[in-house]
Order: sequence, then C-alpha cells, then structure tokens
Amino acid sequence: MLNDIRKDYLLNRWVVMATHRKRRPVDLARKETDIQKFSRSSCPFCPGNERKTPPASLVYLKGRKSTVRKKDTNGIRHKNWLIRCVPNLYSAFSHPKIGESFSSGKAVGHHEVLIESPNHNEQPANAKISQLVYVINGYIDRLEDLSSKPYVKYVSIFRNYGLDAGASLSHAHSQIIATPMIPTILSDELSASSEYYKANEKCIFCDIVEREKNSPRFIWGNKSFIAFAPWAGVHPFEYWITPKEHQPTLSELRSQTTRDLAIALKTCLNGLRSLLNDPPYNYGFHLSPNEETDKHYHWHLEVYPKLTIWAGFEKSTGIYINVVPPEDAARSMKRIIERN
Ligand SMILES: [Zn+2]
Ligand SMILES: [Zn+2]
Ligand SMILES: [Zn+2]
Repeated sequence: MLNDIRKDYLLNRWVVMATHRKRRPVDLARKETDIQKFSRSSCPFCPGNERKTPPASLVYLKGRKSTVRKKDTNGIRHKNWLIRCVPNLYSAFSHPKIGESFSSGKAVGHHEVLIESPNHNEQPANAKISQLVYVINGYIDRLEDLSSKPYVKYVSIFRNYGLDAGASLSHAHSQIIATPMIPTILSDELSASSEYYKANEKCIFCDIVEREKNSPRFIWGNKSFIAFAPWAGVHPFEYWITPKEHQPTLSELRSQTTRDLAIALKTCLNGLRSLLNDPPYNYGFHLSPNEETDKHYHWHLEVYPKLTIWAGFEKSTGIYINVVPPEDAARSMKRIIERN
C-alpha cells in the first residue's frame, strides 16, 4: 500500500503521511522530564524578581472594578501584577534609537516576553480561564501598540513550551516579536489566500472551517472556535484553532469570544498534555498584518507538538514525513478531551 502525499491548504508544501511507519500516541509520549530546575528565587519572572528584567512595557494590575493597565517608568517596577510584558534581554530585534534611520540592513523591531502569570507553573493547560483571558488581552494590547509603529510590518506572537521546544526558562511565558518585514510563511499564506479570494470571492479559511468541522480531522469546538488537525500537517499531532466566523486578526475579539478562545486553548493543550505525557510544543498565531489583507485572511493559531526530529530529508528538501496521519491524531485528541 502506498503512502498518502498531501499538499498544504495554502502553502506549496508537501508532506508524506507515513502510514507504514505509523506511530501510536504511546510511542511518541514524552519519556523523561525536560522541565528545567529553577528555584523560585532565581527565576527572573517570579514575583519579587521584577528588577531582574528591564522595565515592563505593560503590566495588568487588579483595579477596584476592572483591570488597570500600567507601564514601569522612572525606575519603578510594579508589584502584584496579573501579567507582565518586558523587553527580551537577548533580543533578536531591537527598536531604533531616536534619530536612527531604519535601513533594511538592520534588525529593527521589538522582542518582548509576556509573563503569563505570577505563578511559576500556571501553563495554559492548567491555568485558570480568567488568567488566560488576561494573557490573550495582553497579546492584543501589545499587538496593537507594536503594529502602530512605522517600521513594524508584522507582529508574531508565539509560545515555546519545554526545553526541547526552545524554552530557556520554565516560568509560563509567551514571546512577541515585531519584525520589519512580513515573514515568509505569512506572505505565502497571504498571497495564496488572496488568489483564492479572487477566484472564489470567498475566504479560504471560512471554507476550511466549513469542511473540517465535519471531517475526520475535527477535534473540538465551542460557539466561536474549532480545533482540527490540518489536512497536511507536518508535525505529528499538529492542530489549529481558528474562529468560526471571518476574523482577520485578534483585535476583533470581544469579551465573550476572548473567553471562548481561553477555553479552547486550555481544553486542547490539556488534551495534548494528557495524551502525550506533557510534551514540549510551540504555538504561533498567524494574523492579518494590515487592512488590505483583512478581507481574504482569517487568523488562526497553529500548535506544533515537538515529538520527532526533522532530519536530512526534511531539512534539505522542505518535504516532510509525518508518522501520525491527522485523522488518527484527531481521533486520539478527541477521545482524551471527552474523557478529561
Ligand atoms: Zn518563576
Ligand atoms: Zn474567513
Ligand atoms: Zn497559518
């Protein structure tokens, strides 16, 4: 029997679904712990260690009626925060100094860390929903502020969880990088979705949602979101969360949909954790970068569990081999979420 070869919904990217080498969840589950040992006193993201980071670009504080948004200024560091967003000490992109021209040869931009909770281990899989709502609102606030800068073309919001997925600190955190160009995967998705719109007068993601909500790749859904394993996912157990209604970017979330997103995040990440013994993963948002792309681009969150290693073939060709067909991944995820 021959393996399936599939092309991505949008990208010119191919993946072989290796049914012959098919793996069960238990074969891929994380074996030993990769959680780094950080004592609370040395963790720069724990409360009390605010001085170990640069001043925060955003903090949420508990107000009498609602959340109060502040910044650290004049050498003060706010305490008793709910979430905290700080410039990354080892920044890949830095903002230009006043008067500095931002030529294309310099990595101008911003690189920030969003500390998701004062509790060291409040990861999305086990966070309070109200805490995840702060995190999502923090993403939106930073997205809006950074997008308004003239040298910023795209704002990437992502999360690395576990040492093998590139997290160098174990305290629950996400990262935000504002770049002076539109990243390649985004620009490829943008041009393909624009072509699709021209030909069909429809958003391709709205069509994907229609198709996947009743497909064997469907995992979970609530009023506002669905989670599914993408048709040509390149990672075992990869899944995407996307709004059911056409929504170009996160700024359009309202309070009820923000809560629905928090629930979707927690439900699916907790499913992944139970199914594969708390595996490392990366996730990243794909957002419409400007008004011109809003009609045909529909935001989504892509979650990539880190269970296998890309080797010579993948690295040298850009063709991938996935040892867990998305239909199998979705079935296992669905089952564990129903049980949880
Ligand atoms: Zn900590
Ligand atoms: Zn759409
Ligand atoms: Zn995407």
